[in-house]
Amino acid sequence: MSRNDEWMQRDIASLWHPCTQMKDHETLPVTPIRRGRGVWLEDFDGRRYLDAVSSWWVNIFGHANERINARIRDQLDSLEHVILSGFTHQPVIELSERLGRLTPAGLGHCFYADNGSAAVEIALKMSYHYWHNVGRPEKRRFLTITNGYHGETLGALSVGDVAIFTETYRSLLLDVLKVPAPDGFGLPREQWIDEAWEKFAHMEAALERHHHELAAVIVEPLIQCAGGMRMYPPEYLTWLREACDRYNVQLIFDEIAVGFGRTGTMFACEQASVRPDYLCLSKAITGGYLPLSVVMTTDEVYDAFYDDYASLRAFLHSHSYTGNPLACAAALATLDIFEQDSVIEANRAKAAHIERVTAPLRDHPHVGDVRQTGMVVAIEMVRDRATLEPYDFRERRGLRVFQHAMSRGAMLRPLGNVIYWMPPYVIEPEEIDFLAEVTREGLEIATGD
Ligand code: PMP
Repeated sequence: MSRNDEWMQRDIASLWHPCTQMKDHETLPVTPIRRGRGVWLEDFDGRRYLDAVSSWWVNIFGHANERINARIRDQLDSLEHVILSGFTHQPVIELSERLGRLTPAGLGHCFYADNGSAAVEIALKMSYHYWHNVGRPEKRRFLTITNGYHGETLGALSVGDVAIFTETYRSLLLDVLKVPAPDGFGLPREQWIDEAWEKFAHMEAALERHHHELAAVIVEPLIQCAGGMRMYPPEYLTWLREACDRYNVQLIFDEIAVGFGRTGTMFACEQASVRPDYLCLSKAITGGYLPLSVVMTTDEVYDAFYDDYASLRAFLHSHSYTGNPLACAAALATLDIFEQDSVIEANRAKAAHIERVTAPLRDHPHVGDVRQTGMVVAIEMVRDRATLEPYDFRERRGLRVFQHAMSRGAMLRPLGNVIYWMPPYVIEPEEIDFLAEVTREGLEIATGD
């Protein structure tokens, strides 16, 4: 028995994996990873896989990054964790100051948690609570766009709209308003704005009709990631900010997946030159090392909670690992790398390379769309290119791409029929070329019947 097999068997006997139909593992083994370095993961039999999805979109500077390792080691020797209620520590203070400088002006208050879903719950609760505190308790509903994803806890699921995750739990979820999302699928980039403007009419109408009962609008800026890497232009966010101001409704940006350079700017909201009332960050914040999330908000929100204890206006939300020092140290090292290596500029050449090598895939008879925003590219497989008719999800075409890619040494993990790359920023041009080759082969195999 190979060493991989041994670990696989022990795994299946004792684990229940996330986002997985465990029966799949009767035929599709889990891959035990022994170590990682840079963009590469290595299994127990010595096979290597290029981590094209940054291990669920978290790892931006590679596995076993020397600089992040060193910072965590240092922190480990002084303080591993301390309660953040009534106590504080250097890494969390420095991180809050730096995030305040990096994000749009006015988001000076950082509230921490330890995963993305928790950050979304915090933003939703804070917005609801804000209106309660300012004497507008009737403003208690949320408005969002279709096809969004904000996490798996019940509040986050409620504002999400990806059926495979939400439908089973429908009767447990909040009653959230949804309007059709802007979506550039199948359109040349020049037409994205017109499409978004048409969709914005629905948002405007919903705001006009419901603003009196709305606490906030929540969206994933620029890319609906779990919804199949569907993309829309920054103008939609500019219009949305303006309309939310006009109707006195707050705005939550969930940049958990797209923050920290993914869309080509440090934060996606920069491209629309707008500031949300709440900015949710997680995932890449620690370079993919440790769980950490943060909700950043304004003086206006902060002040609505600031009062004598007996007024009972405080935000009493808490998680045990809030602002963990090791995670904050990893985040500080991550921000150092952004600065020292001019990452945002360096990524431009990589994004252009990605665009060049994926462009020919547009001609494939079963590709409906190749779309890209910054360091995310998505190639959508369709049954019929002319009508954009999708493949039935039961055919599991994406899984065939995954299996082929694994046999070639690349970890591509399509979302349904959407093959995408969301690689660590340390990926080299030859590695991008390799991904293009594997993707083309995977496409042939997955669409060949
Ligand atoms: N929001 C977005 C946009 C996400 O992509 C995700 C995770 N994929 C989440 C929230 C939830 O984050 P977590 O998985 O850390 O709970």
